[in-house]
Amino acid sequence: ERGRLLFAAPVEFLKGVVAMSGLPPADRIEVCFAGRSNVGKSSLINALTGRKNLARASNTPGRTQEINFFTTKDGPYLVDLPGYGFAQAPVAVVAKWQALLKNYLSGRPTLRRVFVLIDSRHGIKKVDDEILSLLDRSAVTFQVVLTKLDKINAKDRTAVIEQVKGALAKHPAAYPEIVITSSEKGEGIETLRAIIAGLE
Ligand code: GDP
Repeated sequence: ERGRLLFAAPVEFLKGVVAMSGLPPADRIEVCFAGRSNVGKSSLINALTGRKNLARASNTPGRTQEINFFTTKDGPYLVDLPGYGFAQAPVAVVAKWQALLKNYLSGRPTLRRVFVLIDSRHGIKKVDDEILSLLDRSAVTFQVVLTKLDKINAKDRTAVIEQVKGALAKHPAAYPEIVITSSEKGEGIETLRAIIAGLE
């Protein structure tokens, strides 16, 4: 109910941040969405907010190295972190981005949770290790959101959930409960809304 109320009012794009000095005032709590490119992050943010193209902005060239802030009515900021796993990006770009990410994650007192999106067809992969250990070191609670559940069968669901749970055991900052979603089918979206609405 709280989740429905929070997302009943329009969610708006606030700004894209490229340096710590550009962060909006820490005057409310915030939650982040992170995941490798193509994991389904834009689709999930669009499904959560009920807005078809809200997160598309974050995926357009020039926006991909920004931390994108969205406002909810009387609720937390929603923060879209750029997709990771593009090893072919120029070294200087990667270094600048990593520094910003590190400073942001370790220096944002109002950051309550990072939702780390994992493609349910792949599970947790080596490419995810960097962000997961950064979250451990920053002591920021993260919760895994499995995406694209409609693409796998019941047996593979069980298997990927087991794989993820096993991998999370190594991460002190991991929240033990996994959220399973399909933006396509709307599965898990209300659950995720309720989790966000319940954070204080
Ligand atoms: P992003 O790069 O993480 O923002 O990923 P997108 O949201 O753009 O999604 C990447 C691709 O996966 C697109 O072709 C989406 O249509 C597809 N996709 C995303 N979510 C789902 C889902 O829940 N089910 C299915 N079947 N496809 C999805």
